[in-house]
Amino acid sequence: MTKRTVFKARLSGEQFKALWQEAQENIARLRACHGHRFPPLEADWQKKYRCEACGGEAKAEYVASYCEGFAAAGGDPRTICANIQERPA
Ligand SMILES: [Zn+2]
Repeated sequence: MTKRTVFKARLSGEQFKALWQEAQENIARLRACHGHRFPPLEADWQKKYRCEACGGEAKAEYVASYCEGFAAAGGDPRTICANIQERPA
């Protein structure tokens, strides 16, 4: 049997509660927003982008999906994120 080392973050109950609360508040901000406006995406998949309208933070995947939905509804996704590009079909 091979021994593996597993690394875990050790958070206190209070730290966990604070992170959980922060995440819930971010989700609430994003859901309540009536029109996200994200800065241009960068070549960093871990980066989070802050919406100018609601202050919610999201990763590039969220921004891209939001833009895709916006385009499907007939909007111009470049009003959401200036450098978003259409995927070839
Ligand atoms: Zn927003």
